[in-house]
Amino acid sequence: MKNIVVLGSTGSIGTQTLEIVRYHKDIRVLALAAGSNIDLLEAQAREFLPDLVCVWDQEKARELAGRLKDVPVKVCAGMDGLLEAASMEQADMVVTAVVGMIGIRPTIAAIEAGKDIALANKETLVTAGHLIMPLAKEKGVKIYPVDSEHSAIFQSLKGEDSARISRILLTASGGPFRGWTREQMKDVKPEDALKHPNWFMGRKITIDSATMVNKGLEVMEARWLFDVDFDRIEVVVQPQSVIHSMVEFLDGGIIAQLGTPDMKLPIQYALYEKERKSLPGDRLDFKTLGKITFEAPDFVNFPGLALAYQAGRTGGSAPTVFNAANEWAVSRFLDRKIGFLAITDLIGEAVERHYVIENPTVEQILDCEAETYEFLNGKVF
Ligand code: NDP
Ligand code: MG
Repeated sequence: MKNIVVLGSTGSIGTQTLEIVRYHKDIRVLALAAGSNIDLLEAQAREFLPDLVCVWDQEKARELAGRLKDVPVKVCAGMDGLLEAASMEQADMVVTAVVGMIGIRPTIAAIEAGKDIALANKETLVTAGHLIMPLAKEKGVKIYPVDSEHSAIFQSLKGEDSARISRILLTASGGPFRGWTREQMKDVKPEDALKHPNWFMGRKITIDSATMVNKGLEVMEARWLFDVDFDRIEVVVQPQSVIHSMVEFLDGGIIAQLGTPDMKLPIQYALYEKERKSLPGDRLDFKTLGKITFEAPDFVNFPGLALAYQAGRTGGSAPTVFNAANEWAVSRFLDRKIGFLAITDLIGEAVERHYVIENPTVEQILDCEAETYEFLNGKVF
């Protein structure tokens, strides 16, 4: 039986991962980790009986330990807890479904310990891909993408030689404001931005989809996962979210993966290491769908995408600053402290003033994150 650890088990990806575990009943959950939602974590611990449960918030961890006294489970807290969960001896695979750069250290710890990774936490690869990919190679660890676009590319590459890739065509829905001008977006509120047309996801990634920053992060994620340069990664807007991404090969042939917008397929494909297993859910009906349409991305009204290509091409610590500024700005936008357009404006400002460090270490990445927060905290809004 395969043993997995789920970091971020109470979130959108985490709960869907556990749905798959519940459905197939042939995977054992060794550890679960979350930020602060101990009500759901308690229910998950009682259902899956892991050896270890980790809560970021110390106080909440203590409370959960009290609640779980009757269950043979160890409760730990903070980064130490995440690192312990990520490197548990019996674990075969770690599902990285926490949101944000907090995932860097646990992901590295898991790879160091030889665990395969089902990677949802794109912020980690965006900021530390130059460390993670060579480390995974050195340790013989496989990284299975969970992000739907990257899973689609991964599926399209099955049986193919990645040296024969001509272009990666990364599809994007365009989000709730597709076709809008910046002027039309200036008074957008969190509740408007949280209405994604096709996908139901966590709050942060839903805002990232509305600004198109998510697609920018995915371009950088693709660069590391598939070892292609930025000139060969093209974003194509496909508003129905039916084509999850495509690969064009040297002979001009294009292979795509299609399906309904349901994250359970990419999660399952990663969990079972490319095995096609049954999965209940809606199926595509081309007759009712009628058409699949395409558009070019709007780099002018959605500057986040252009900034991402720029940060990615600059490399070094630039993607960290891009990502950290975005994490900071999205959280302030959700708290109604800044406007929608300020998110990408602030990313631009933070990246612009940053003096790039080439090949940053984990410590330097975390320092750049802290410096970016410090810069943004010092601004008056
Ligand atoms: P959610 O916000 O729904 O869930 C985030 C999870 O991370 C929660 O379990 C949360 O716990 C946990 N968490 C947050 N902070 C910490 C912390 N400091 N320590 C431990 N756990 C923490 O996010 P999503 O599931 O939407 O996204 C997770 C990742 O997957 C992101 O990187 C996202 O970009 C990526 N992704 C998501 C997709 C989706 O469909 N949702 C699609 C593709 C990629 P708590 O509940 O207690 O706050
Ligand atoms: Mg995606």
